[in-house]
Amino acid sequence: MPEAQAFLSVATEIAQLLQRLGVPGAAHTGGELTVRSPVTGEVVAQVRQTTAAEAAAAIGQAHEAFKAWRSVPAPRRGELVRLLGEELRAAKADLGRLVTLEAGKIPSEGAGEVQEMIDICDFAVGLSRQLYGLTLATERAEHRMMETWHPLGVCGVISAFNFPVAVWSWNAALALVCGDSVVWKPSEKTPLTALAVHAIAQRALARFGDAPEGLLGLLLGQRDIGEVLVDDHRVPILSATGSTAMGRQVGPKLAARFARAILELGGNNAAIVTPSADLDLTLRAIAFSAMGTAGQRCTTLRRLFVHDSVYDALVPKLAKVYGNVQVGDPREAGTLVGPLIDRAAFDGMQKALGESREIGATVHGGQRVEGIGTKDAFYVRPALVELKSHDGPVLRETFAPILYVVRYSALDDAIEWHNAVGAGLSSSIFTLNVREAERFLSSAGSDCGIANVNIGPSGAEIGGAFGGEKETGGGREAGSDSWKAYMRRATNTINYSTALPLAQGVTFEI
Ligand code: NAD
Repeated sequence: MPEAQAFLSVATEIAQLLQRLGVPGAAHTGGELTVRSPVTGEVVAQVRQTTAAEAAAAIGQAHEAFKAWRSVPAPRRGELVRLLGEELRAAKADLGRLVTLEAGKIPSEGAGEVQEMIDICDFAVGLSRQLYGLTLATERAEHRMMETWHPLGVCGVISAFNFPVAVWSWNAALALVCGDSVVWKPSEKTPLTALAVHAIAQRALARFGDAPEGLLGLLLGQRDIGEVLVDDHRVPILSATGSTAMGRQVGPKLAARFARAILELGGNNAAIVTPSADLDLTLRAIAFSAMGTAGQRCTTLRRLFVHDSVYDALVPKLAKVYGNVQVGDPREAGTLVGPLIDRAAFDGMQKALGESREIGATVHGGQRVEGIGTKDAFYVRPALVELKSHDGPVLRETFAPILYVVRYSALDDAIEWHNAVGAGLSSSIFTLNVREAERFLSSAGSDCGIANVNIGPSGAEIGGAFGGEKETGGGREAGSDSWKAYMRRATNTINYSTALPLAQGVTFEI
């Protein structure tokens, strides 16, 4: 590609970014973990993996750190998160660029991910003065009953490649103000951005001054290193983000040792386009939700139910957008769809498209875009798949830019199909009809953790609780009262009388 010659090699630029972000060279050269950039497919680093013994030691250190950190007043803990937010602001351009080069996101999405980290830090700083408990009515005279929220312990975080840095911050910012220490196992596909975040966090810790050693741990490696976190009884809470397959392995292990699990797993998100929808707005919302991040967001729009009366006005226009959208190197101005993360993602996409053709679907796009980077870079034209019925590969999550479209004529049918998949993460309805909108948001409507009106299913703000139901795992992170998952609740009853009345009128005279 002639345009690509205007850029530094990805490996060179990554090395420069890591140096500026404060990551020592020894951490990403000469190690066992090979890192490829999806932008060109070239090998860009060899990261030193954490051994199982080192992982256990880091958890032990975090456990000791927790014992000190839990007694630091919460607003003071918030000061560390405030400093983290400042350091992230200073590093935003470099870290965002590193996200682009390591995960393949277009620059505005790379920068947006870092902005999300800054936002959650701001949220958590405020929260550090609002970790409130209730005072409850007691049935006994001269008694008081209240709830107290206490720090929980080491919070483990396992994260996926597609939000390589934001997911850590959603957990870490809250866990830190809640008085927990944090040990993070990022995706083996994106260890460089994790190293950079760790270096940024070390600067915040240094400015803070007296945080206990080992408060923030980082474990690099494959799933076996994640398993160390899952199995260690010193980790009472684990937030695990990734595929439903991963959750099926991790969830039962955590349950067996009664650890708390925040599971943020796969999505198979849908939107319903009703007869009254503002079609221009709907088209733009669908384009971003379905093609943004090359279809590799947990909240990516994957299924679209379009009413008969607007199908012909919307779907041909959508097919045109799919045909014209700029697919390419995310460093190029104008690119909206960057690369898939790797060959497995490409193969999974082609398999789903093949199955769709076998059941008589009309497939627009989906082919490989050649000529960008090496043979190990996988660019595809996003696929729009018109299905005859809601069946086949549409029922599962394929982590690639495929949007399945199905016609409907009765809203009841569309809602039934909407809910007829394993995942329950995010959902939308496009309508100007208040009855349809309220129906969709009601207990008889969308069964997802996120349900929107006239907004696509992806691109949530941090102020709300984030997560989904069913095979998405049931966890909630980020805003609202998600912080409660990172603390333990004690109910306290205090008797300030001279009598000893027992609850429920029980008598026990000695
Ligand atoms: P993945 O499941 O392959 O890996 C995710 C992480 O889990 C990695 O760090 C991996 O090493 C670790 N892991 C896998 N198996 C493990 C095990 N048995 N024990 C311990 N750790 C284990 O997922 P991925 O390909 O990186 O990411 C894509 C998937 O993540 C998609 O399904 C997507 O929907 C989902 N996702 C969900 C959310 C959400 O918030 N719900 C957010 C981002 C991504």
